[in-house]
Amino acid sequence: MHIYDFIGIGFGPANLSVAVALLEKDMLNDHSKIMFIESKPDFVWHGGMLIPEAEMQISFFKDLVTLRNPTSPFTFINYLAENGRLETFANLKNFFPRRVEYNDYLQWAAKKFENYVKYATKVIKIEPVLIEGSDVVDYLALHLQNVTTKEAEIIYAKDISLAAGISKVIPEYMSANPDIKISHSEDFLYSLETDFTDKHAKYKFVVVGSGQSAAEITMHLADEYPNAKVDLYFRTYALKPADETEFVNEIFDSDTVETFLTYDDDFREDIIENHRNTNYSVVDPKLISILYERLYYQKLIGTEQVQLHQFHELKGIDSDSKQAIFKELTDNKTVNMEFDGLFLATGYEIIATDIVKNFEEYLVYDTEDRLVLDTDYRVKTINANFKPKIFIQGASEHSHGMSETLLSLLAYRSGKIVTRLSESD
Ligand SMILES: Cc1cc2nc3c(=O)[nH]c(=O)nc-3n(C[C@H](O)[C@H](O)[C@H](O)COP(=O)(O)OP(=O)(O)OC[C@H]3O[C@@H](n4cnc5c(N)ncnc54)[C@H](O)[C@@H]3O)c2cc1C
Repeated sequence: MHIYDFIGIGFGPANLSVAVALLEKDMLNDHSKIMFIESKPDFVWHGGMLIPEAEMQISFFKDLVTLRNPTSPFTFINYLAENGRLETFANLKNFFPRRVEYNDYLQWAAKKFENYVKYATKVIKIEPVLIEGSDVVDYLALHLQNVTTKEAEIIYAKDISLAAGISKVIPEYMSANPDIKISHSEDFLYSLETDFTDKHAKYKFVVVGSGQSAAEITMHLADEYPNAKVDLYFRTYALKPADETEFVNEIFDSDTVETFLTYDDDFREDIIENHRNTNYSVVDPKLISILYERLYYQKLIGTEQVQLHQFHELKGIDSDSKQAIFKELTDNKTVNMEFDGLFLATGYEIIATDIVKNFEEYLVYDTEDRLVLDTDYRVKTINANFKPKIFIQGASEHSHGMSETLLSLLAYRSGKIVTRLSESD
């Protein structure tokens, strides 16, 4: 039976960065030892939200590798150079490339690891494999399923890195009626391609949410469908700006992870709560200004193509009349809004770590039933009877800090993981 040394589950930016770090340490030179499993058919970074005009929320310095090894061939700068755009990019005087370009950068990097990735394959279960006659877990069995053929397979690994990312949050009561066009922001552009092909039609679009995605979707619909009506609904008073100021931004630095880990749970929770406006339910201040100017211009020319509706909460859908039902929070009245397309920018949740539930008796959980990771992102085990190293990325904001679900520390985190992986224990 073949056992891989290491398998990465999910091949998004996090495990792609691990692949870069493995190559750097000369640990990626044998296909029979290392593999990554990715459920998508190809590498793409939030493809449904690759709105052409959308920009990164993070500096290109925080790419797959620069902050750990600026001389790596996998830097964003080297990508620009290889693609003949280094000088022109410099002329832009911009640290925040468009998301489309960052995706192209990631795809450029991912292509170099093609032989190590099994695409269109999902890991559905992981089980411990014991040394015969003992209670020592020696390695892990990963149950795979081909996403298209549904064919099942089991492969084995000594160590793993789980980087499964985020999954969309859709309100429970949303109907699955295919005649009603409702999609989560994650599928936004795919939905336009299939359901709203006439750019001149007088569609009625309703967008729900108050974060970056909601604002981007609203602007994109207004630009691409000049005859459509676009109504953005949200619960709060106004769209709030993301805090991108210099001192606060240090919360995403690698040093902060080290200190964050020394605080107790309550103190960490307070810091996260105080600085939620760096990332959650906030909009890039530049985009807020663009949107505000658009509404002003509408006043000037006497149109109402885009409208913002504060203090509204989505409560349900009337499938027969194709109406979204909102509660107006000021007076609890119900407001119905007819739509051709409804876009839910209602956020994401971290993909659960349930995939490792089959051996939870070996792993350390905190009082909130969350896995405890050490400074190297390795899951702590109850005793030495559990030999595999399990690394988890993107799921420990509560302990490692606000950078955990973002791109900020890809280079730092992957460096930590690969160094630990290279060590004998
Ligand atoms: C629209 C959008 C824009 C964003 N922009 C920014 C930004 O500008 N800056 C920033 O710092 N962050 C941004 N983020 C946050 C985002 O989480 C990170 O950018 C990044 O995607 C995290 O990388 P990841 O590899 O951890 O997760 P993901 O990118 O989510 O990748 C995880 C991968 O794992 C795969 N997978 C999941 N489960 C399985 C399984 N069981 N088997 C096999 N494969 C599996 C998924 O298909 C996916 O490809 C943005 C998020 C969104 C939604």
